[in-house]
Amino acid sequence: MKIAVVGGGASGIIAAISAARKGADVTILERCDRIGRKILATGNGRCNYTNINASIKNYHGKNIDFIKAAAKKFWVSDTISFFKEIGMLTKVEDNGKAYPYSLQASAVLDVLRFELQNLQINIKTNFEVKTIEKKDSRFLIGSYSCEQEYADKVILSTGGKASPALGSNGSGYEIAKKLGLRITDLFPALVQIKTETNFVKALKGIKIDAKVTAAADNLSETSIGEVLFCDYGLSGPAVFNVSRFCAVNKNVKIKLDLLPEIDYNNLHKILIKRKSKNISLENYFIGMLNKKIGIVLMKYANVLPLTRRSDTLDFDEITRLCIAIKAFTLNVTGTMSWNNAQVTAGGIITDQIDPESFECKKIKGFYITGELLDIDGDCGGFNLQWAWSSGYIAGLHCASENNNA
Ligand SMILES: Cc1cc2nc3c(=O)[nH]c(=O)nc-3n(C[C@H](O)[C@H](O)[C@H](O)COP(=O)(O)OP(=O)(O)OC[C@H]3O[C@@H](n4cnc5c(N)ncnc54)[C@H](O)[C@@H]3O)c2cc1C
Repeated sequence: MKIAVVGGGASGIIAAISAARKGADVTILERCDRIGRKILATGNGRCNYTNINASIKNYHGKNIDFIKAAAKKFWVSDTISFFKEIGMLTKVEDNGKAYPYSLQASAVLDVLRFELQNLQINIKTNFEVKTIEKKDSRFLIGSYSCEQEYADKVILSTGGKASPALGSNGSGYEIAKKLGLRITDLFPALVQIKTETNFVKALKGIKIDAKVTAAADNLSETSIGEVLFCDYGLSGPAVFNVSRFCAVNKNVKIKLDLLPEIDYNNLHKILIKRKSKNISLENYFIGMLNKKIGIVLMKYANVLPLTRRSDTLDFDEITRLCIAIKAFTLNVTGTMSWNNAQVTAGGIITDQIDPESFECKKIKGFYITGELLDIDGDCGGFNLQWAWSSGYIAGLHCASENNNA
């Protein structure tokens, strides 16, 4: 049986491996001049390839239950075993984030490439698929440069629209649309957030740990972790995790709790006590917060001038400073673009796909994996886990003659 895997990214590569292990004749068709480019850029070059705490709660999409079947068939421990078997050991760091033991993303791609070679999987690079048509019982695959390929079955693994420079330019959605598949609206996710800039600009380059809450109307989403101040707004993993919320809702406000370990009442007491140090307001937060953040907080809370002595602070001003620390609030003006995003929120609507096999319900022999589907994960290894799970299962099922994988 001849299987074409369209897209040589994370989900396509593992799909090709699991199909070839079942004896199928597999060809990967990849638009770039090499496969797996995005893998090299993941996890800041270290590839946070899964997360040992991954659960359904880490995912988003219209129908999250869709992932339950995959989570039973091929999940985190299966992924770690898969990589161990092909030669890669794993290191687990904070919050369950798993990396290759060498902390090099290239190790992930290398061991996958070795396995592709062992299994004699064909790879056609610079082959950008434009159309896929079902002709009788086979698929005719056409490229932008008018090349053609035939296959008995096809796995569409072209990724989403995020970071097109790394290969995934959204063309998979066009292919799916031409085949009559329905797609949700698409938004950049795990991306930097643009905010009003009058306060953040002065903090450019400062990293802190904070509790980040994005809120609009009666809805909100919260994440705790690293935040990086930028001249256009905010970045960092905790910000990425609420960026999906900012993309899909209107009039969003971001609230930062800059000292999440200390509750409001205790903070109030600490600030009252600190008054007696009788230092200038410019230095009031030194030892508690980054000095520049302290100065911005004074301006934000309108507790000025900075040359004033701290023993002149009154109860109301201390309250305003507490609120500034616990709820430093910024209006969101948007998110950064697809060029900066790590993943796509939205995608091919999953009620058209069999969750047990990733086969398209109305096009037999046609499978869809990874980020193309309306499933996206939080920051921390969850998106690659989805790519491995969906790809592995699709490849296995696709190559099983009786399709009972
Ligand atoms: C900078 C960055 C860092 C990230 N870090 C992490 C991380 O540490 N952990 C994590 O879990 N996730 C991370 N992600 C997200 C993760 O990489 C993706 O969710 C995952 O790679 C999606 O896998 P995929 O197989 O669906 O698509 P992709 O990996 O995007 O692969 C799609 C492939 O298809 C090819 N292609 C596209 N269109 C065509 C076409 N028409 N014809 C032929 N080939 C085509 C592309 O060139 C590409 O090779 C990161 C993403 C980015 C951009």
